[in-house]
Amino acid sequence: MAENSIQIPDFITVRDLAQTMEVSPINVIKQLMSNGIMANINQEIDYDTASIIAEEMGFIIESAVEVAKVEEAAAVVEKAGELAWRKVLSAEDDKDLVPRPPVVTMLGHVDHGKTSLLDVIRRTNVQEGEAGGITQHIGAYQAVQDGQLITFLDTPGHAAFTAMRARGAQATDIAILLVAADDGLMPQTKEAIDHAQAANVPLIVALNKIDLPNANPPMAMQQLSEYGLIPDEWDGDTMVIPVSAKEKIGIEDLLEGILLVSEDLNPRANPKASPTGTVLEAQLARGQGPMVTVLVQNGTLRQGDTMIIGQHHGRIKAMYDFKGKKVKGAAPSTPVSVSGLNGIPKAGDQFHTVKNPKIARKEIADIAYNARTQPAQTGSSASLEAFFANLQNSGSKTLNLIIKADVQGSVEPITQSLEGLSYDEITVEIIHASTGNITENDVMLAAASDAIIMGFNVGADAIARNAAASERVEIKEYSIIYKLIEDVDKALKGLLDPVFEEVVIGRAEVRAVFRIRGVGQIAGSYMRTGVAKRNSSARLIRDNKLLHTGKLSSLKHLQDNVREVKTGFEFGVNIVNWDDYKEGDILEFFVIKEVPVS
Ligand code: GDP
Repeated sequence: MAENSIQIPDFITVRDLAQTMEVSPINVIKQLMSNGIMANINQEIDYDTASIIAEEMGFIIESAVEVAKVEEAAAVVEKAGELAWRKVLSAEDDKDLVPRPPVVTMLGHVDHGKTSLLDVIRRTNVQEGEAGGITQHIGAYQAVQDGQLITFLDTPGHAAFTAMRARGAQATDIAILLVAADDGLMPQTKEAIDHAQAANVPLIVALNKIDLPNANPPMAMQQLSEYGLIPDEWDGDTMVIPVSAKEKIGIEDLLEGILLVSEDLNPRANPKASPTGTVLEAQLARGQGPMVTVLVQNGTLRQGDTMIIGQHHGRIKAMYDFKGKKVKGAAPSTPVSVSGLNGIPKAGDQFHTVKNPKIARKEIADIAYNARTQPAQTGSSASLEAFFANLQNSGSKTLNLIIKADVQGSVEPITQSLEGLSYDEITVEIIHASTGNITENDVMLAAASDAIIMGFNVGADAIARNAAASERVEIKEYSIIYKLIEDVDKALKGLLDPVFEEVVIGRAEVRAVFRIRGVGQIAGSYMRTGVAKRNSSARLIRDNKLLHTGKLSSLKHLQDNVREVKTGFEFGVNIVNWDDYKEGDILEFFVIKEVPVS
């Protein structure tokens, strides 16, 4: 609901109307007079009159009676939506489920040809619209092979793939792993394999650049085998298809391969269900407002539907397919761009639809209210200390870890030792292990997989640390291998206690002592360095001797209680259970923090 929107019942007194708008009743009476209506403060006016007055005074009006009706309807719709979902999910009642095109993402090391291959498929296998040339880049397109549709997400790379997954989106059915046949398996190829496997998405390997004279497919296949992907040619389970994006070799084979894997997966959805799906891209388009590309995953999205995406909503004004052609509806697995939303959502956000914008506003207001009253537990909440305690609640008996170490010579012994640890049914799963600093990709993978990152002799850059903080991913850093192994071992046995230490945050000097009745002594002090915080503790030091340690019972600047005092400020402070301050005393403020294990 907009900030200045108000609800008005069928009849309302002038006083109540003024109160609702938070204005003086005099102003309301004046406004009524200017409309030729003489009314006193206790007089009732009807909905139509009240809404004219309120509108003139800058408010958006909703009928309270209507809102109540809408709320009731919303509850019914919600129930129906829930039922529709259950219907989709329950295997017994799947008569409405129909096959949908598979959704495919390209993963692989930089420069191995993801963009080139996506372009070639787009140019050769997309049936062009009547308008001719394909100009739209909306984050996805659909290709046709043997009369069957395949949806390609065209933001390549596992970073985007995993970031979406960390937001709860499971948009991809099949991943194509691009491996340049001259280059073989590179660090990002391995990372991509781990990301796809952590998401439980089947992989098809496209061995690209086979046109190059130094292409060496057997070498690449050998490396794939060593990484656990045995090519089908060698009696393994991994489909490996030689291609050249440059020379357009093997493109049909690849698409056939996708259809073959898709046949096994049998992706289905219910076109009659209430539409849901995922945001692929969103931007502000000139003259159109926010344009949002979504992948419809269930139901059929139609022009005129009211969508909710996070805190944004809107009625779909226009809908375009990836060729830029206006369409009226989009079935499951179809990407479409829609206009009409009141804001720009993020890639990976989920959408659903409701009956009308009023219900949407109410739902969003409810979500915002809940978010304020119960802070959301987003992202991963896995922690080594909490693993054992959470066993009961989470039901998961696997401790997911990501290992980053400085050299390969450390990665191997660490992963081997960790994989050897298991108790009863409790096991360790290493979803990714590699050399190098901890990156944002590692953090997103951890967030998407409820994993903990264990660093050995490596650091994390600021971007990774920020992502870890916002996604609530735990990063543990070690410089001794046995300590790392021991901690995981203890975590599995439920023996790990967090270790705490004091961190000094500031020092102050007492410059005057006051006595306040009912409170006792207050140390009038000057903050020399750092800060003092209301929730910190302090040590009282006199002549280099520690006299007392305790939490603060008050922290004041002038007359006001404050949460923090910075360097250079004068303030009053009192420590619990101490009533003997002297000029020249030193106060050392500290907080208790969990120690990073070393
Ligand atoms: P991306 O980083 O994975 O998206 O890789 P690109 O598609 O941008 O390709 C990187 C480079 O490899 C470009 O210079 C392409 O022209 C080249 N390239 C891509 N596919 C092939 C191929 O099949 N053969 C050859 N010879 N070069 C290719």
